[in-house]
Amino acid sequence: MSTLQLDATGLITTCPKCGQRNRVTFGAREARCGKCKTELPPAAEPIEVPDETSFDALIQNAAHPVVVDFWAPWCGPCRMVAPEIARVASANAGRLVVAKVNTDDVPELGERFGIRSIPTMFVFDRGREAARTSGAMPAAQIEAFVRGAVPGRF
Ligand SMILES: [Zn+2]
Repeated sequence: MSTLQLDATGLITTCPKCGQRNRVTFGAREARCGKCKTELPPAAEPIEVPDETSFDALIQNAAHPVVVDFWAPWCGPCRMVAPEIARVASANAGRLVVAKVNTDDVPELGERFGIRSIPTMFVFDRGREAARTSGAMPAAQIEAFVRGAVPGRF
């Protein structure tokens, strides 16, 4: 279970020092723990997208390019991508937002983007789709894909 929880207003994140759950609203200039005032670190793991509304809010409000991995639990290559996408998230915390959409749980999004095969990865920037690619790939190749999609932004 991820320590990050996405909804339509922002992220709920766990304070690394005291364990307090904090809501960090989209667009917040700085994020501090409401209890111990520790600065909350940027997301360093993939954010699971629970529904279409949260997805739109994330895409529209993210301060950095957003990589979205469309996957499903029964898909073998998706399982190969999972640790790679997690690596991309931890290596690029604060520069890149990494999210995952389970197409079984949120089929509306798969339909909306016309996804025919998974895994399919997207890069969104400033609310718009910048690029998409299909198939499993290692972390370095995912990063190269993002760099190519949003030159100068990552
Ligand atoms: Zn705290």
